Amino acid sequence: VGTLYLVPTPIGNLEDITLRAKRILTEADYIAAEDTRTSGILLEKIGVHNHMISFHKYNSKQRAPELIQLLQEGKTIAEISDAGMPVISDPGYILVKECIKHDIPVVSLPGPSAFATALIASGFDAQPFTYWGFLPRKASEQVPYFEQMNEFKGTSIFYEAPHRLKKTLKNLATVLDSDRQIALARELTKIHEEYLRGSITEINEYFAENDPRGEFVVLISPNTQESSQLSWDELVKSVAQLVADG
Ligand code: SAM
Repeated sequence: VGTLYLVPTPIGNLEDITLRAKRILTEADYIAAEDTRTSGILLEKIGVHNHMISFHKYNSKQRAPELIQLLQEGKTIAEISDAGMPVISDPGYILVKECIKHDIPVVSLPGPSAFATALIASGFDAQPFTYWGFLPRKASEQVPYFEQMNEFKGTSIFYEAPHRLKKTLKNLATVLDSDRQIALARELTKIHEEYLRGSITEINEYFAENDPRGEFVVLISPNTQESSQLSWDELVKSVAQLVADG
């Protein structure tokens, strides 16, 4: 039986391809790529020449059994997406699940992913964090997600397309306190890489003057407010005090 390798590719800067990723991409029997044209350009630039099979969200259900068959015949497949880690807001999950079901080894290579890169430079605590991927587009459907992020005692992270960012951040402001700190990581690893940090109000003021350009990761700081509800320990203590007081 073969092996499925999950291979991260750069999220901008080509130097972020690892030595191991390059070797696996060269040695694999096939590369399953989300977009064979985009990946063709990358592979050319890093000097990898190999067979590509297209594997994206519209053909993954039908293509997965074909890839499983190849793996069962002993072939090695390296899976890549357009950028960053496969499976992280990208195709690949179905294939991983099927491999596990069929006892086919899955090897995940470490490497670039936008959310982790943004998280560790955000200035917000990295433990715990929640990664939400892309949120629904409709404002009314985003609100329940924002309510959870508002309550969450850790850092919340999501992805948003630049042309939807302004609308999404305005919607976020309807749920968060006006001084809640957020951070935006823009164009990570690229020439125009930058972090925007400030309250949700300040960030929205900034975007009233500047249109979002490039790729963004949005991070919301942990909720640091003391909970108004009593913890179990506090509750036990208060009851004990009441009993003691008679
Ligand atoms: N698989 C990728 C990963 O591991 O991060 C994510 C792919 S998802 C289809 C694309 C989204 O990731 C973009 O809309 C953006 O939110 C985020 N992203 C990807 N590259 C980025 C970069 N260089 N800077 C900031 N955000 C990025």
